[in-house]
Amino acid sequence: MKIAVLPGDGIGPEIIAQARLVLDRLGESFEIEEAPVGGAGYEAHGHPLPPETLALAKSADAILFGSVGDFKYDTLPRELRPEQAILGLRKHLALFANLRPAICYPELTAASSLKAEIVSGLDILIVRELNGDVYFGSPKGIRTASDGLFPGSREGFDTMRYSEPEVRRIGQVAFTAARKRGKKVCSVDKSNVLETSQLWREVMIDLGKSYPDVELSHMYVDNAAMQLVKAPKAFDVVVTGNLFGDILSDEAAMLTGSIGMLPSASLDVNNKGLYEPSHGSAPDIAGKGIANPLATILSAAMMLRYSLGMEEQAQRIERAVQSVLATGLRTADIYTAGTTKVGTVEMGLAVLKALG
Ligand code: NAD
Repeated sequence: MKIAVLPGDGIGPEIIAQARLVLDRLGESFEIEEAPVGGAGYEAHGHPLPPETLALAKSADAILFGSVGDFKYDTLPRELRPEQAILGLRKHLALFANLRPAICYPELTAASSLKAEIVSGLDILIVRELNGDVYFGSPKGIRTASDGLFPGSREGFDTMRYSEPEVRRIGQVAFTAARKRGKKVCSVDKSNVLETSQLWREVMIDLGKSYPDVELSHMYVDNAAMQLVKAPKAFDVVVTGNLFGDILSDEAAMLTGSIGMLPSASLDVNNKGLYEPSHGSAPDIAGKGIANPLATILSAAMMLRYSLGMEEQAQRIERAVQSVLATGLRTADIYTAGTTKVGTVEMGLAVLKALG
């Protein structure tokens, strides 16, 4: 199985190095090839997503991505900025399903801003549609209003739209994931106001008939935002569109305390995927050897589960991470009094040791 590894910028190379060691330790015969992306791609080939890197990503079974971006590229034209690499990969590889687990390990409850009893043991999965919705719907633009409250003034406009097949395929990802977890899907929409959401809900209800073993519920997005902080453990899988998912997945991420712990996956229709930590390139700590590599290591575990069909190895990594946390080792972002502070490499080594 071929894995494209794209370390990127900032802390990307540091955390990817630890994830690679973990993959090596599994003793599987992966073919692993690295290529520059983001600012590193721009430095090497004049583009954040060089053609060679894109070709490698296309030819691989899965992509392990570090992070991209640095403030020194802020003055470049938009199409040359590092972040364009992510958008380009999503588009070229048709990655439409974003999976973000939010797990609050009991050992880390103190790092969450919510009360321990609300988040301890939390394990939910946000499934966000990534290719459609108001972000990509046309027409969009800025024009002079011909009607509305202030005719003749400038107005911005976007188009929210979802076709039935788009809703169906993201729904299928959510129901399939739920079958392997707590067997509950909560579909989040705003069907009391939006036609797009009305269609979304109809399709989800119809799709739910094919998954009788999974309990389907519906929630308006404003209520979902409240319930996520009030009683997050009531959720199992949450499925929603691009706009609502953008906001809710960040909200769910914060329940767990640290962005340094959160993996993510973006999948195409064949379950080929790009796996990356939910955080950015953290230029403020790059090169200091203190970044938390666990989100990237857990992203590698997701890659084994969703794209490479290696559930057992995925669980091995997840168990190793949990056992390291149980020993009290913490990188600076998750450190609390009474635990032991370690750097990126020490944390990676501890996971290797736990893997045996
Ligand atoms: P960020 O996620 O990089 O950092 C936010 C804060 O979290 C910082 O204080 C950072 O030190 C900390 N942090 C992040 N990851 C950490 C880790 N693994 N261990 C410990 N601490 C960690 O977000 P930002 O500062 O807003 O953005 C920095 C750059 O990253 C920007 O150029 C932005 O565009 C880019 N970015 C890239 C991605 C991506 O590659 N997918 C995502 C988000 C932001």
